[in-house]
Amino acid sequence: MGDILKEKIRDFACGIGLPIFGVTSPAPMECLEPLLKKRRNLKLDSPFEKNWQAEKRCRPKTSFPWAKSILCFGMPYWKRGEENREKIFARYALGRDYHFVMKDKLTKVGEFIKQLVGEDFKYRICVDSFPLAERALAYRAGVGWYGKNCLLYNPEYGSWFFLGELIINIPLEEDKPLDGNGCSGCEVCINACPTGALKEPYILDARKCISCMTQSPGFIPFNIREKLGYRVYGCDVCQEVCPQNGAGAEKSPLFHTGEEIVPKLLELLNITEEQFREKYSGTVLCWAGRSIIRRNASVALGNTGGRELVPLIKKHLYDEDPLVRAHTAWAVGKLGGLGSAEFLRKAWERERDSDVKRQMENTLNLT
Ligand code: SF4
Ligand code: SF4
Repeated sequence: MGDILKEKIRDFACGIGLPIFGVTSPAPMECLEPLLKKRRNLKLDSPFEKNWQAEKRCRPKTSFPWAKSILCFGMPYWKRGEENREKIFARYALGRDYHFVMKDKLTKVGEFIKQLVGEDFKYRICVDSFPLAERALAYRAGVGWYGKNCLLYNPEYGSWFFLGELIINIPLEEDKPLDGNGCSGCEVCINACPTGALKEPYILDARKCISCMTQSPGFIPFNIREKLGYRVYGCDVCQEVCPQNGAGAEKSPLFHTGEEIVPKLLELLNITEEQFREKYSGTVLCWAGRSIIRRNASVALGNTGGRELVPLIKKHLYDEDPLVRAHTAWAVGKLGGLGSAEFLRKAWERERDSDVKRQMENTLNLT
């Protein structure tokens, strides 16, 4: 019965756009727990993980004592080798927010199983929504193997897929982790990472990772701003350069020119709250919000290297948003020319927010 049920689940899930599927148990992931604790002690974890305890993440039964199996699903969102023409947003940010899409699909799978098993069937959906080590569970369920960039690789879809789980109260036969080390002697992603966030194979310093930084609040560290390049949300470099994704280094956005990107960046910097809601509601950009997206657009404009942009962005030295004022100051200083130092000095004199003023002082020292 278990095997037949599992195959029925696989077929149903595949039919609704979840072609990647594996099963694991809710048993604790004992090897992972000390590693997560070590990451936290070394401050390599992201600010978004700060309330998530390693014990809970590695012991699914702490949150779900009734769990008997965990069904891990993958939803592909990009074709291997296909170029991202948008360039300023990571691929995963281009469509509808995957949290909603995945949850809809997992609800369908849960209800499908309920029809087959009966009313005693119980399930919970997890899409980045519980403190669960989702990637490690998916690995154990045979969904993919780890690349040196810390991402999971599926034999068919590479690393371009989202993860989601159903925690269920019936036992199903477990799958085995996949045998595969597609990385072998390769270290292309480690060398291509713009910020050195991949400290060594399989170790990510999330606080240096552009993907994390473009979503995090606050001032972006000065020494990282140049490395953001034109990226406004997310970073795909370590996936784009990966031979396992069927791509070569020449496809990295590091090599795109600024000209085609500037109008998009200016549009984002100038976007009103209403326009932002209209254009981006239902996308992952809303998790970051307008303020952070405008902050990132200021930095990206500073990285385009076009001095003629200074007259177009200098009004944002007086923007209502302190984050935008501080980062526009950096952009104006970086672009230079056309009286930029004078614009900065005047803005600094009028600035009343002490944090922004300090940011402007740092920029003035750099110019
Ligand atoms: S770029 Fe190379 S080392 Fe990095 S994940 Fe891909 S195959 Fe592995
Ligand atoms: S997402 Fe970008 S910054 Fe983060 S590890 Fe990969 S290449 Fe480095």
